[in-house]
Amino acid sequence: MHDVIIIGAGITGSAIAFELSKYQMSVLVLEKENDVGSGATMANSAIIHSGHDPKPGTLKAKLNLLGNALYDDLENDLQIPLLRTGAYLVAHGEAEEKKLEELKKRADLNGVEAFYIPLEEAFKKEPQLSKTITKVVSLPTTKVTFPWEVALAFMETAVVNGVQLEKNQSVKAIEKIKDIFEVTTETATFKSRYIINAAGVYAETIASLIETVVPYQTKPEKANIL
Ligand SMILES: Cc1cc2nc3c(=O)[nH]c(=O)nc-3n(C[C@H](O)[C@H](O)[C@H](O)COP(=O)(O)OP(=O)(O)OC[C@H]3O[C@@H](n4cnc5c(N)ncnc54)[C@H](O)[C@@H]3O)c2cc1C
Repeated sequence: MHDVIIIGAGITGSAIAFELSKYQMSVLVLEKENDVGSGATMANSAIIHSGHDPKPGTLKAKLNLLGNALYDDLENDLQIPLLRTGAYLVAHGEAEEKKLEELKKRADLNGVEAFYIPLEEAFKKEPQLSKTITKVVSLPTTKVTFPWEVALAFMETAVVNGVQLEKNQSVKAIEKIKDIFEVTTETATFKSRYIINAAGVYAETIASLIETVVPYQTKPEKANIL
C-alpha cells in the first residue's frame, strides 16, 4: 500500500517524484516504457522558455516564470547541464514588428526581462542571423538544457530518497474501493491513497479509466518537418 502512485516518468512525473521524496511518505512511480523520459521529454527543443509568450494572468504565465528561475537552483542541486544562452525574437518588416511589439508588451506584463537591442549588436553576437531582419528583442533569461537528463536526475534522486520506480508497467485499469485506489497494469495491481496523473499526452486516457467525465481533451499532432 502506497501513499501516492504517480503514473508516468517523464519530466513532470519525475519532478513530482523528486518533490515528494523530500517527505516521509511512500511513493510509487509506474512507467509503461523501459526507462525514464521516454515520451515527449526525450524529443523536444530543450528550451527553458523565459515566459514571455503565455497569456498574462494565466497559471501558465506564472509557472513558466517560476519554473525558469527554478533551474538556477536545480543546476547546483542536481548537477544538470544548463546553458544560459538567452534568446532573440526577430522581426522582418513592419507587420512582424507589430507582432514583436505585442510580444514585448506581453513579456513586460508577465514580468519577464525583454528589451530591444540595436541590429548591429545582434549581428555582432549572432553573425548567422538573417540580414533581412529589421528589429530584435532580447530575452536574456531563456536557457537550454537536456530535458531527459533533468528527468533522470530528478528520478535518480527520488529513488535514492526512497521512491519506488517500476518500469514496463503500463496502467490499464483504475478502481476506487472505499478510499483506496487500485491501479492495475498487465502484470500487477498496486494500491494507494492518491494518484497523480503525469502521463503526458496519455493523461486523458488515464483520467478516463476513473473519471466518468474528463473535462479536457488531448489532441496531439504530428509535425511535418521538412
Ligand atoms: C517537438 C516538441 C518540441 C518541444 N519543445 C519544447 C521546448 O523547447 N521547451 C519546453 O519547455 N517544452 C517543449 N516541448 C514540450 C515538452 O516536451 C513537454 O511539455 C514535456 O516533455 C512533457 O513532459 P511530461 O512528463 O508531461 O510528458 P512525457 O514526457 O510524455 O511523459 C509521460 C510519460 O507517461 C508515460 N505513460 C503514458 N501512458 C502511461 C500508462 N498507461 N502507464 C504508465 N505510464 C504511461 C509515458 O510513457 C511517458 O514516459 C516540446 C514538445 C515537442 C513535442
